[in-house]
Amino acid sequence: MNKVFRLLLIVSLAAFSALAAAQVFLTTRPPTGDKEWPVVKEGTAKRISPHVYVIPSESVPRVPNVGIIVGSKATMIVDPGMGLLSGQAVAREMAKVSKNSEVYLVTTHLHPEHTTGEGAFPTAKIVRSKAQNQDIEEAGMEWVGIFAKRSPELTEILKGASFRKPDEIFDKEKTIDLGGVRVRMMWAGPAHTMGDTVFFVEGDNVLFSGDLAMKNIFPAFAMPQSNMKSWLTRLDELDRLPATQVVGSHGDLADASIIKANRDLLAAIQTRAVELKKEGKSADAAGKQIADEFKTRYKEWDQPVRVIPAVAAVYKETP
Ligand SMILES: [Zn+2]
Repeated sequence: MNKVFRLLLIVSLAAFSALAAAQVFLTTRPPTGDKEWPVVKEGTAKRISPHVYVIPSESVPRVPNVGIIVGSKATMIVDPGMGLLSGQAVAREMAKVSKNSEVYLVTTHLHPEHTTGEGAFPTAKIVRSKAQNQDIEEAGMEWVGIFAKRSPELTEILKGASFRKPDEIFDKEKTIDLGGVRVRMMWAGPAHTMGDTVFFVEGDNVLFSGDLAMKNIFPAFAMPQSNMKSWLTRLDELDRLPATQVVGSHGDLADASIIKANRDLLAAIQTRAVELKKEGKSADAAGKQIADEFKTRYKEWDQPVRVIPAVAAVYKETP
């Protein structure tokens, strides 16, 4: 090997490892970097309205879109991500845009990638809808166990995860004044879960729609109580809000058109499921058939397999 080449190699190796180290520091990724590591990515928060910042999921599976809503006296975090590492990344992003010591922590639903970052916010006030609190009490830790078993990385990320008792519970709706900006919190279940909760930032007109409306991702009927009729009613209600930006809990940021797009998609699944039930098809067969149809009809939508439980829900609700 000639000297110049050897020198170049050493320099580039050094640069590469510095880069790799920087990467580890910035994204809280493990050094291997090639495994699934669903931790909220640091350094990527962007301001989408006067009071609202979002750390985008960048469509990484099991990473949510995280919201940071900053008022003059308090700050609200929507979905702190999965595990302590995610929560810590969110806390550091929050510190860049807010000096408020009063912090509210709210979550769209019980699943671990939305909730378990709470460990990094030991003094934040946790506010939950009654139904979501019930979901968490009944199944929160069970879901942590299910996720943790999926890979050694998830085991590591979820180590020590637990749920604190909320500081406040509301029934259907509650508005919190953060100082110069108010957030309307609305229970919106049963849809993806019993306890789905959505957050509307008044004036900024930003809606955090949870799993009820995501851009080009089929809605997931994740619980036995997931309900098509209720989901459609909730989307009608959300469509009447003056939202100009909609942040689904996963996927790309969007405008309000995704509310109607999700509504139309669900209504179309409902119509087909009712037809096939009348023809005497089993729920299973109908689910598979409609999933196939919709895979072609809605090519740009992810996760068409989620049509199957949606059809099962319609079958249960249709006499
Ligand atoms: Zn979920």
